[in-house]
Amino acid sequence: MKEKYLVINAGSSSLKFSLYDMPEANEIVNGYVEKIGKEDSFYTLKFNDKKIEKSARINTHTDAVQIMLKELLSNNFINSIDEIKGIGHRVLHGGEFYSESTLIDDEVLNNIKSLTKLGPLHHPGEVAGIESMMELLPGVPQVAVFDTAFHQTMPADNYLYAVPYDWYEENGVRKYGFHGTSHKYITEFMKNHYRNPNVNLIVCHIGSGASISCIKDGKCYDTTMGLTPLDGLVMGTRSGAIDPSIVEYICKERNMTVQEVTNALNKESGLLGVCGYNDFRDLEELAAKGNKKVKMAINVFKNSIIKYIAQYYFELEGKVDAIVFTAGVGENAIDLRADIVNSISNVMSITLNKEANDNIAKFKDIQSGIITTPNSKCDVIVMPTNEEYMILKDTLDISKSLEDGKQLKKVRR
Ligand code: ADP
Repeated sequence: MKEKYLVINAGSSSLKFSLYDMPEANEIVNGYVEKIGKEDSFYTLKFNDKKIEKSARINTHTDAVQIMLKELLSNNFINSIDEIKGIGHRVLHGGEFYSESTLIDDEVLNNIKSLTKLGPLHHPGEVAGIESMMELLPGVPQVAVFDTAFHQTMPADNYLYAVPYDWYEENGVRKYGFHGTSHKYITEFMKNHYRNPNVNLIVCHIGSGASISCIKDGKCYDTTMGLTPLDGLVMGTRSGAIDPSIVEYICKERNMTVQEVTNALNKESGLLGVCGYNDFRDLEELAAKGNKKVKMAINVFKNSIIKYIAQYYFELEGKVDAIVFTAGVGENAIDLRADIVNSISNVMSITLNKEANDNIAKFKDIQSGIITTPNSKCDVIVMPTNEEYMILKDTLDISKSLEDGKQLKKVRR
């Protein structure tokens, strides 16, 4: 019987899962339950190039977890739930409690619940997912992998906002940063690539959500997202950093509530807000046809990326081993990458290798997608991220160390 591990990623109204077998870490099946709590909820399962879609009334995340286990059993992905040896849960917010992935016990679960105020959309679903799995599979290690954990090495100089200090001490207002699992995956890979644990990097995770991290001496030193994932770069539908006075001004001008404005800043802003489109493939197509508004939106987006690269270049005192582009846009948007590299090439003494940048898909398999010429002062690299792998690895490491601990106890007796 092969050992199996589950990775669960619960969103506000969705639940994604992947089942892996060990030791190969092959993904056997993945599933996506959508529109939880809505009339038209449904789920899909993908395995062996097959895709099955089923509608079902799925009222809660607990229902979603039960459906997942039922499907795993009825399709013989597992013969019994005893085959599952560990479960990794992606958790949005670890606050100041967690700087690494953690085995979930009652205390950890309570801490995650207490952080719901900082992740009001995600934490209720995540907590329901964890509680259901703890109930259905008691005794199986459950591991929380936090989006914020990797950024906990930031010094106070970089994570404090210049607001009344009580807001930090009493209400937890500070920069936490997100996408930490992705930034960590890239950083660990680059430490190996450069055979240097103290590598200096500027990691650009540019997907629908986007963030850049400044990695100094192998650790996160600064990052663009803040108390919430709304801060920093212009994104698909999020504004990124704006003048905070805009909120009150627009509330008055447009007779909106703070919640309505916050919602608009999260869901109706960014690229979508400026030009009406947020899928970068659409933007590329329309820009090529000469759509001026779309071109302007791309420039606003591009400039926000360049500004943070420039900031982090200075924070690293110009000693940068690599700038890495990852996630949907970072891995695929050839012209955007070229424009960014060309904009910073004089200051950073780097030269774009156009052929490599144009044909980067070829390099993906071997994961060494350098798109600058060898005489450049630092490398610019395109690399696919793999957050699932990172969650699986941490879950495996923690579950195994627990098993080893148990065995050690047995021997001692
Ligand atoms: P998230 O995980 O935040 O949803 P992803 O990392 O999957 O985001 O990135 C999604 C974005 O990547 C989409 O908005 C899409 O515009 C962009 N994208 C995906 N493929 C391409 C492509 N071939 N060319 C340009 N952009 C792409």
